[in-house]
Amino acid sequence: MTTQASSQHGPDILPHRPVNGQRPASRGLLSIVIPCHNEEDVIESTHQRLVAALPSTGMDFEILYIDDGSRDGTLSRLEAIAAGDSRATVIELSRNFGQQSAMSAGLAQARGDAVVIIDADLQDPPEVIPEMVECWRSGADVAYGRRRSREGETWFKLITASCFHRFFASLVPYPIPVDTGDFKLLDRAVVDAVCGLPEKRRYLRSLVAWTGFRQEPVWYDRHARTAGETKYSTRKLLQLALDAVMLSSDTPLRAAWWGAGLLTTLAVGGAVLACLMPAGDGTLVATITALIALVGAIQTSAVALVGEYVIRTYREVQGRPSWVVKKTIGHAEFEAGHAGHAGHAGHEDHPGARAA
Ligand code: UDP
Ligand code: MG
Repeated sequence: MTTQASSQHGPDILPHRPVNGQRPASRGLLSIVIPCHNEEDVIESTHQRLVAALPSTGMDFEILYIDDGSRDGTLSRLEAIAAGDSRATVIELSRNFGQQSAMSAGLAQARGDAVVIIDADLQDPPEVIPEMVECWRSGADVAYGRRRSREGETWFKLITASCFHRFFASLVPYPIPVDTGDFKLLDRAVVDAVCGLPEKRRYLRSLVAWTGFRQEPVWYDRHARTAGETKYSTRKLLQLALDAVMLSSDTPLRAAWWGAGLLTTLAVGGAVLACLMPAGDGTLVATITALIALVGAIQTSAVALVGEYVIRTYREVQGRPSWVVKKTIGHAEFEAGHAGHAGHAGHEDHPGARAA
């Protein structure tokens, strides 16, 4: 099913970016990118809330739903939404590639002067988007949602997330805001910069910060999920955290030097102690055994850490795209036009595949 583009989003309003690069004083196009994985219970309410909230931005808008390999009825509901609303487009990925890839696929297809990324589950209220647009109009390149409160999360998740954000910010060699997720508005220049980055394995929060554009917070209260359940088990969250650190920082790899320094000090201290102590002391044997085990553990961890970086390097060298688009339902011109989108090299067979 392909719904033709409405005149509202046809070529008559392209290009949206004024030639002098300034923010459009009125109208302009706002793109909304929504990654969706098994969100059948909430997706219709999400669409209703969005179309109710967006007109007050004073901009034309397009909503891009990226179906990231849903196994429930999400895709058919999205198709129905796109059939009834020409502002909605559905990008169906060929399988579940993960939220980071789904968001990147949406950014690659978005045509707006500004692009908002928002989760499908209404935890991030669409009613905050007009505030983000105001923030953007007043000069911010990135208007990021900063969480004043987080309803419906366990204390374990709140504490670990807060600690991780601060730890991560201390590792990354450029300013990265804490207590934020992916809910944010990006200026076209930021979208182009992020989409132009060649890496396949992506952690968008970090990539956006890396571009160095001006970031401003828009405070909001994060709600509990309206329906459905989180797609992140503790294992998946750990995997994401590991990706975030390893894709953005060399510090863990360099920390091996600190380990080496510590062990050298221990070794010298142990040698001095062994020279001074009387022979045959059982305590000393136990201490030495513990030290050897400790040294082994640290060395093995260092090798494992190197392995994690090697895995990621190998995947980059393989050069596979981060996602593959199976079908685009909505604006027909996307399918023909995406391969030439600035900053992207489309795959010959799949215009939506990231092959750069
Ligand atoms: N999501 C996705 N692919 C995945 C996992 C999640 O597109 O493999 C989407 C999901 O549908 C939602 C967003 O990413 O729109 C955030 O997921 P979730 O709400 O489960 O994360 P949480 O808010 O619990 O951290
Ligand atoms: Mg959520």
